[in-house]
This record gives sequence, C-alpha cells and structure tokens, in this order.
Amino acid sequence: MRKINVFDTTLRDGEQSAGVNLNFEEKLEIAKQLERLNVDIIEAGFPASSPGDFRSVKAIAETIKGCSVTGLSRSVQSDIDTTWAALKGGVEPRLHVFIATSPIHMTYKLKKTPDEVIETAVQSVRYAAKFFPHIQWSAEDACRSDLKFLVKIVEQVIDAGASVINIPDTVGYITPHEIGHIFSYLKENVRNIDRAILSTHCHDDLGMAVANSLSAIEHGAGQVECTINGIGERAGNASLEEIAVALRIRHDYYNAETRLKLNEIKRTSSLVSKLTGMVVPNNKAVVGANAFAHESGIHQDGVLKEKTTYEIITPELVGVSSNRMVLGKHSGRHAFKEKIKELGHTVNDEELSRLFNAFKDLADKKKDITEEDLFAILTEERVATSVAYYKVQQLQVNYGTNNIPTATITMTTLDGKELQEAATGSGSVEAIYNTLERMINSPVKLLDYRIQSVSGGRDALAEVYVKIRYEELETSGRGTAHDVLEASAKAYVNAINRVMNRKQKDELPEKIHLS
Ligand SMILES: [Zn+2]
Repeated sequence: MRKINVFDTTLRDGEQSAGVNLNFEEKLEIAKQLERLNVDIIEAGFPASSPGDFRSVKAIAETIKGCSVTGLSRSVQSDIDTTWAALKGGVEPRLHVFIATSPIHMTYKLKKTPDEVIETAVQSVRYAAKFFPHIQWSAEDACRSDLKFLVKIVEQVIDAGASVINIPDTVGYITPHEIGHIFSYLKENVRNIDRAILSTHCHDDLGMAVANSLSAIEHGAGQVECTINGIGERAGNASLEEIAVALRIRHDYYNAETRLKLNEIKRTSSLVSKLTGMVVPNNKAVVGANAFAHESGIHQDGVLKEKTTYEIITPELVGVSSNRMVLGKHSGRHAFKEKIKELGHTVNDEELSRLFNAFKDLADKKKDITEEDLFAILTEERVATSVAYYKVQQLQVNYGTNNIPTATITMTTLDGKELQEAATGSGSVEAIYNTLERMINSPVKLLDYRIQSVSGGRDALAEVYVKIRYEELETSGRGTAHDVLEASAKAYVNAINRVMNRKQKDELPEKIHLS
C-alpha cells in the first residue's frame, strides 16, 4: 500500500477560522495531542506574522519529537529567517514557503509577471535550502492556475531544492474530477517530479474538500493537508478524521494508508472543539455525536443481529468509548494517576497534586467521574492561562422569580489586592457579568455566550464558552464548574485574563529581535 503523509494545519489554517484565537498553552496542548495521533507533520503557525505566533511555533518545534514541525512563510528572506529561528530547535525543521501562481493573484495581489513570480519562488527556495533540510513549496491558488505555467514553476523550485510540492485549492473552487486531472498532469509533465512529493490542500467552500483531497490522493498526491474537525478559513479545510477513516475503511479502493493512530481521533476532535469553541455538529461524519447512533427500528434490529448490517465504522476504531464510570469519591491518588496515564498523559508530582485536588472537589459533588470529566479537568489544568490577573474567590447570587437578581463577588488580583462588589441584572448571569465589569473597571462587550454539559446526567459538569471585546481586543474564554453560574463567572474572568496576557506578551522585547 502507498504511504500517505498527513500534514495537519489545525494550528495554522485552522486557527485562522473566524472567532478562533488559541493561546500559547492551548496550541502546545493541541500539538502534543497531534503527536499522540501520530500525524507526520504539524504546521504550527506563521512565525513571521506576530511575536505570539513566533513564540508558540518555537515552543512546539522544541517540544514535539514524534513528527516534523513546520511554519508558513512568504517568499521573502526576512520571513524565511524568522521561520528558521523558530524551527531550528526541532527534530526535523521544515519550511513551508508559498507564492501565488494564478493569473488573478499574480496580477492583482502580487502585481508581478509570471516570470517575476518564478524568479522570486526560485530565489526563496534556493536561499532557504542553505539551512532548511526540508522545504515544502506551495503554489497559492494553484487550482486556478495555468497548468503549463504550473509545470514550469514546479520544475524550477524542485531544482532549487524543494522536496514537497503543495497544490492548494485555496478558494475551494475545484471539483474532484478536475483536481484529479491536475495531479495526473503534473505527474506526467514535470520532468523531475520523482524528486518531490505532491501534496494536496483543499478548502470546503463548495463542500468538496474531503472528496477533492481523496481524488488528489488517487491521482498521485503523497501528502494530504487537513485540519481536525475541518476547521479553517471561511468554510474550513478538509477534515483529517474523514480522510483518515475513508482511507482505512476503503483501503480496498484507495490502496493507501497513513500512520495515524485512529483511536486517538475522537479525543483529538474533542480537544480541538473545546479549545477553539467550535462545536462539532451532531451529524458530522466520524466524530459527530450521532455518527454511531442507530435510530430507526429496522436499523437497530439489524445492528443487534449483526453489526455490519448498518455499521461500516466501529466506534472503537476512532476511540469513541461508551462513557463509562471510571472513578468515584473513594478512588485514591494511585488509581487517579493510573487513569491519567491511560488517557495518554504524563504528569509530574506537582501537577498531579493539583489535578487530584480538582478531582476530589468534583467527586464531592458528582457521583461518577467519567473519562470525559477527567479529560475536562486535565485540559483546564493544562491550558490555564499563564498569568491569572484576576481570580474569583467567592460568588453569591440571589435569584427569585419575584425579585431582582443580585450577584456579590470577591476577587483577588495578581498583586494580592482583594476586591468586592455587588450588582444587579435582569438575570443571574447578567448580574454576575455586571458585577465583574464593575470590578475590572473597564467596559466589556459580551459577543457570545454558550453553555453545555461535559457529560450526561443531572450532576454533569457545566462548560461555558464566552466571546468578549475588552480593551479593543476580541477574545474567547472558557470555564468549567459543577455549577452553571460559577462556570459562567470563570469563563468571563478567563477571557479577561487572556486579554491581559496577550497585552503583556506583545510588549516583550522579542518583537524587536524578530526582523
Ligand atoms: Zn488553506
């Protein structure tokens, strides 16, 4: 079987999704999970785009050992230098350099002639080849480019040192039949194509990203670029999980395989959904809540008699476990540590103590602690914002159908000050948010508020997601607690802390060293 390299761009293209902004700790956590999923390449960001991106790409490159880490770069020397500075500490530094090749992009965006574009592309690859062991070159908007021109530029960048040639459908315009033709054409006409791997990168504007990616694989692509849950610019990218499972279930047809650990798919999908705040629709293929639910009587009857009557993918294949009880109030530290290990995480003693305390707190209120609960506790702990400028110490809410909801809150600040305030609102959550706004003494606009339960049952953990605008920055925040009002307060304060962290970090001297 042909081996297909999986290039995950959740942290670069996926992070470009409207409304998504992951912080440093969250990006690192996702990268570690992608390593467990065993992708071949992680695109960690666009190092030259901001100091924050530079810092996270560098940390990911230095942390991840099980796969190659790459960063996106424009075809200019300063970008390439910055990307090298971010990636050089990695096990397999890889540059992803791009330039647009379609007539529309060359004329209106780049304002360059085709020959000038070739020259810039070749120069940047040649320059990068001096220090990067692996160079991937991308033809932006390739699927709307002239094929003869594409052949010409691809031949020259391969000669200059590129070993992966990515042919993106940047605007999500192509059809499966057409993309198949592009890949076959390049295979047949690029004279030195045996020295490079062809890669596909599809967008879902017409709902064909996965079908197009699979067609490209059929016609010679040896690498597929995709994101977890298909998140990304506009309508998103091709879904990693759908491509991976299609290749596995229909290996008879595609005759191609990846090295992915498919049973890490569900966990990866949940983590990305949780941290980005982008909900996975119930009917989403492979990872949706209903993906394995048989509703019709005839189907249920069939599945009971013989699973394969209506089930082509088993839940176990992608790591969907029936949400069984794993721990309870009387579980000890050792059992807890073992479970964390089973979930694929290693923790040091200090972390373990904090996690165990959070677990004990929860076990006092909730009878059965499920795998999902543990995962929620673990994620909260792992991605806690680096500095908590504000911390809620006490929260009291007065609510009755016939009186005005009032919240009283005590918070501590980073410098140890204690703040106390009370305010009313038309509902309990509004009362809390009005109180918090008074305490931080600056207007906060609430753009989105969502609540969901972590698992089933009356005593389930509540998870609140908010999006706010504060001090001219838009950011999201999350809070998990046993009570919905406490979770609401936590999410809001988490968002405020994230804005403060971002402001602090952008002022770091790193900015100066970048150029
Ligand atoms: Zn893209």
